[in-house]
This record gives sequence, structure tokens and C-alpha cells, in this order.
Amino acid sequence: MSDKKLATVAVRTGIESDTQFNAVVPPIYLTSTYGFSQLGEVPQFDYSRSGNPTRNTLAEALAELEGGAGAVVTNCGTAAINLLVSALLGPEDLVVAPHDCYGGTYRLFDTRAGKGDFQVVFVDQTDPAALAEALARNPKLVWVETPSNPLLRVVDLAVLCADARQAGALVAVDNTFLSPILQQPIALGADFVVHSTTKYINGHSDVLGGVLIAKTPEQAETLSWWANCIGATGAPFDAYLTLRGLRTLAPRMRLHEENSAKILDYLQSQPLVGQIYHPSQPEHPGHAIALKQQQGFGAMLSFEIAGSQAQLAAFVRQLQCFSLAESLGGTESLICHPASMTHRAMSDEAQAEAGIKPSLLRLSVGLEDADDLIADLAQAFAKAAEVTE
Ligand SMILES: *Cc1c(COP(=O)(O)O)cnc(C)c1O
Repeated sequence: MSDKKLATVAVRTGIESDTQFNAVVPPIYLTSTYGFSQLGEVPQFDYSRSGNPTRNTLAEALAELEGGAGAVVTNCGTAAINLLVSALLGPEDLVVAPHDCYGGTYRLFDTRAGKGDFQVVFVDQTDPAALAEALARNPKLVWVETPSNPLLRVVDLAVLCADARQAGALVAVDNTFLSPILQQPIALGADFVVHSTTKYINGHSDVLGGVLIAKTPEQAETLSWWANCIGATGAPFDAYLTLRGLRTLAPRMRLHEENSAKILDYLQSQPLVGQIYHPSQPEHPGHAIALKQQQGFGAMLSFEIAGSQAQLAAFVRQLQCFSLAESLGGTESLICHPASMTHRAMSDEAQAEAGIKPSLLRLSVGLEDADDLIADLAQAFAKAAEVTE
């Protein structure tokens, strides 16, 4: 592993590696197959499902950014999650997952457990008693998402990883919301890190991708074998675009955070804003842990509208710089209504239990000028205030 800072690794991995023309930027290899120089001599690359130079460069950069020994780049974040449970778990093995994990992760774990592929228990990982009870069942894997979606709950990774290790369990962290620039779970004791690179790592809302990073070379080797076996690896063109996005990850994260901090300041003074959910808020239950384990508070934030559903609808309709859409982490700002969008598959009871109210809105703060974003919020709040239903 190099001693370079994260921004440098993101920018320079693979630069000047071309041996044919000395291209500064590594070329893209779209080939599916590679020639053997002669019978019996297996080349470094033989078929792009098992290995591809463009995808390998991205994997190398992401493994280094997360402090892992190796990585598998997959066709989406969900494929990376599926790869890990496929490689690791058998019918007798238990995975402990957060009750408020990403909807697709919940569906994957729940459905595959229902088929008997492995066992799953969903718990509130911020509740020490519930977590201890789950760990007492000797799980093989603990799945963690911190900060969580959409309420930005924070789990103490160092404590959880130590407890899991004592229980003989491996820990995988979905680090999508912060990126390696703001949090490195392996340094805090995790065995695996997963990203939906669709989000901040690619950062331009134009590629679906994922990555699974392993702490040890042996685990990385096993995961590569499984990725080839089940066909989970990503396309070279997607890897090329994602590497291009990765080059600017560090400055983008800084600006995402800066804009989000300004918006949070602004929201404090708004009469139509109820509770705000963001780890930067001193009253947020995860504030102290976030200060300890994150290198920033992140740019995703949620808040409740202190008004009617008609006012909420008017507010969302009026916005011009926030697109009403799922997903996150792109250059453009997005607004999402979790109850009817990202979390609509959950029953009303499950939403209530997870604390997702119909009044909740989630922002993915983008890279527009913060003054324009705030002016846009202000005009939308003004219009919403006129609604009397
Ligand atoms: C989007 C997302 C995923 C799934 O990734 P895809 O690339 O959509 O398959 C997993 N975890 C989190 C936290 C996400 O935001």
C-alpha cells in the first residue's frame, strides 16, 4: 500500500501505466477476449469476465482508497452485496443486518433467506441490547450501514467490529453514503467494504456499478473467484467512466459537504422545517460517534416538513434546482420523499417502526452554487406557506 493521501490515489492510480504509446490516461480495453501467445501459455488476461485491465485499474484504486488488499468491481452495488453473501454463507449461516438497511439489501437478504440460502435477523444496531442478543446467536456475518438511509443513524464501527470479532463474526460495511474520502471502515476493524459506485464514487448519475473490497489477500482471491463463477463482474466501459468520476471524488465530497452545511444552516430558521436529521447536528444521537469515526459529516440530509401533505407537495413541486428522484451522490441536487419513493415497499407499520414519517424529505445536495440552492428552497417554502389545505 502506498503512503499517498486519498486524493492523490484517486487521481493517479493507473496514470502513465500504458506501455504501448505512453498515454498518460490509461486506455480503455473493451475486448471480451485475449490471445494466447502459444499453446499451453495462459496469458495474464484470458477473458473479460474473469479479468480486464480497465476494470482492474478501478479495483486497484478503490482497494487502496479503502485500505483493503483487493477488490472486485461488479455491475452494480446490489451485485457486490450478492457476491459477498454467495461466497461466504451457507444454509446454516446467520447474517445480522440493520432493520433500516437499504431497501434492495433488505429484499435480497429476506428473499434469499426465505429460500433457505442462509439465515438473517434484522436488528436495530444502535440498540446495544438488541445487538448483543443477535451476536449471541453466533452469526457468520454482520452487515452494517452507517450513516443509515434516510435518517442518518450512526453505528460505532470500532465497537461493533470488536464485538463481532469476539462473537466470531465477520463484518461488512456498506460505505456508499460517505465514500472512502469520509470514512474507512477497514481501519476501524471491518473485513469487507461495499459501495454502490453508482452514487458518490462515479458521482455523475450516469453509470450503475458496485465494488466489494476485502481486507485480506485470501478473501480478495476468494471473492474474485466467486465473481467470475457467478458472473458478477462489471463492464469495462462502466469501469472506465467510474474511474473518470473517481478522479474528482475528493474535491467533490468537500464541495458536497460545504453546500450541505450551508443548507443545514438555512433550514434551521425555516418555520416549515420540523426535525432535521444529520450527524452534524449536536442533538443528533450519532453526533459524537460521527466526529470520532468520520472525516466529515457527509452531504445527505433529511428533514420533516412542519405542515400538511399539501404543503409538502407544493414545496417539492416548486423546486427547480432539486430534481424529484431516487438515488444520490451525483453532481445535481435531488430531493426524495422516502415514504412514497425509496421506502415505498415497506408497509406503513414497518415505516413507522423505522421512523420514516410521511412528512420526511431527503436531500442529496449537489454541486450547484449554494446560494442558488438556498434561493430555490426559499421560493419553494414561500409557495408552500401559501397553501392552506
Ligand atoms: C444504491 C445503494 C445500493 C445498491 O446499489 P445499486 O448500484 O443500485 O445496485 C446499496 N446500498 C446503498 C446504501 C445504496 O444507496
